[in-house]
Amino acid sequence: MKNRLYVVIPCYNEQDALPQTAKVLKKKICDLIGLGKISKNSKICFVNDGSSDETWEIILRLSREDPLFTGLNLSANRGHQNALLAGLIRSKNKADMVISMDADLQDDVDAIDEMVDKYWSGCDIVYGIRKSRKSDSRLKRLSAEFFYRFMNKLGAKTIFNHADFRLMSKRAIEALGQFKEVNLFLRGIVPMIGFKSDYVYYSRKKRELGESKYPISKMLSLAFDGITSFSIRPIRIISLIGILSLALSFFMLIYTLCMFIAGNVVWGWASTVISIWTIGGLVLLSIGIVGEYVGKIYMETKRRPRFIIQDDLDENYKE
Ligand code: UDP
Ligand code: MG
Repeated sequence: MKNRLYVVIPCYNEQDALPQTAKVLKKKICDLIGLGKISKNSKICFVNDGSSDETWEIILRLSREDPLFTGLNLSANRGHQNALLAGLIRSKNKADMVISMDADLQDDVDAIDEMVDKYWSGCDIVYGIRKSRKSDSRLKRLSAEFFYRFMNKLGAKTIFNHADFRLMSKRAIEALGQFKEVNLFLRGIVPMIGFKSDYVYYSRKKRELGESKYPISKMLSLAFDGITSFSIRPIRIISLIGILSLALSFFMLIYTLCMFIAGNVVWGWASTVISIWTIGGLVLLSIGIVGEYVGKIYMETKRRPRFIIQDDLDENYKE
């Protein structure tokens, strides 16, 4: 039976939240084991992301007291996305399905049941979607919603109101491992993996213990990473502005010629204005064209997989 579950939890200075999170999750996992939905050797894996408080000591204590808990300790603070990836990649050989969630219990642990049910009905990826964002501050809610829309406009297919609370099967994580990029934005990459997937809806709670580790600066840098990792459209916008500015210079040329014929001119004005617009337009367009090539090189250097195989009917096939 392929039913070993790992719950991966990145933790950065979460000493206040961890004991409670461990307690609540333990109950949930034990219930699921009791129901026979997951195997007895399922585990909760905390990834310590270079915390400067007692987080790692708490993880050590938990794992000593109860074999249900295990941990990974990163050598330094590498950020939420990297800590999460470390947990996923390290768990993939031990688990059949992995659920990732935050350490602060904002994501609803009761949604885990439905995720596991969906795994059993054949899904490789189950996304947790926030029904409402009432618990988030107005600024966080508005900026996040704007960001999801903006990302999709720019061509990166993120899932609206889904953060990193999701279930992935072993083979989905193996496929994720084929994405070798360093600038990691999991919410953009996971939907690219494909396979059968489904959604589970839940209400996101307020953070009860500890403080948010995502100040506005980290949020902005995540958003910027998300956009620049998935889209070369900003480069295309430069080319577009260049073309517009060239077109405008053409109209300026006609306009100034008309003015010249009408005798309404100050000497030197026409040539100055037209050359500003023409040269400006040409420079922008040239940057845009060079940018197109840089963008292509950028996409190539990521060495993303060109395809992921779901089934292979030829049994003799060995890679
Ligand atoms: N986190 C991390 N490394 C960091 C920042 C955050 O591992 O550099 C973890 C954090 O411990 C938590 C999760 O990422 O488990 C989400 O962070 P948080 O709850 O503070 O973000 P918010 O919910 O406020 O967006
Ligand atoms: Mg949180």
